Amino acid sequence: MTDVRIVGKALDDFGDDWHWVILHDAEPRGERRYYTRLVDTICGIHLDEGGVVVTLVDTGAPDSPDCPQCQAAGLGPSLRAQIEQVLEEAELVPVRRTTRSAEGVPREF
Ligand SMILES: [Zn+2]
Repeated sequence: MTDVRIVGKALDDFGDDWHWVILHDAEPRGERRYYTRLVDTICGIHLDEGGVVVTLVDTGAPDSPDCPQCQAAGLGPSLRAQIEQVLEEAELVPVRRTTRSAEGVPREF
């Protein structure tokens, strides 16, 4: 499994800066969906954990974050290339998450 890094922000705080959002150990689960073990940002914002399905929604994310801490993370050229590839594939940001209820029914927040 691989980490997927995208430029994004949390929908419940849409006035926030754009960050590098990392979907840890992401597995594609259909169009615009990833199962991921942990969702956080390079600057340390903890978005979700414990195994969630994230639905990516295109909200016109920029090519790079405007969060100073994420910008300062100093991404290397090869990582940058990976990110750009992901961005080309997705151009999406996670704004809605879905977890499984006890009955196994997807539940949206
Ligand atoms: Zn940030």
